[in-house]
Amino acid sequence: MLVVYGHRITESTVNVVSFVCGYCNVRAPQEVVQRSNRFTLIFIPLFAFSTTYANRCTNCAAETVLTPEQTRHSIVWAENRR
Ligand SMILES: [Zn+2]
Repeated sequence: MLVVYGHRITESTVNVVSFVCGYCNVRAPQEVVQRSNRFTLIFIPLFAFSTTYANRCTNCAAETVLTPEQTRHSIVWAENRR
């Protein structure tokens, strides 16, 4: 019997905020992204076994790793600026 298993990384945008990027010094939208590493069985994603967060500049694509707490803070910060 052959069992096909593996993992797949999925990415979703959590939030978009705008500030001056520390790398390119341009005020540009910054995407807060969530990456989930999911276990797959027969190419069907079943569950996430690791999740990471990052801030990505839409101008230069530079990324900064964020903690879950920093990600939650970005959501609150964006909601207060609306
Ligand atoms: Zn940038």
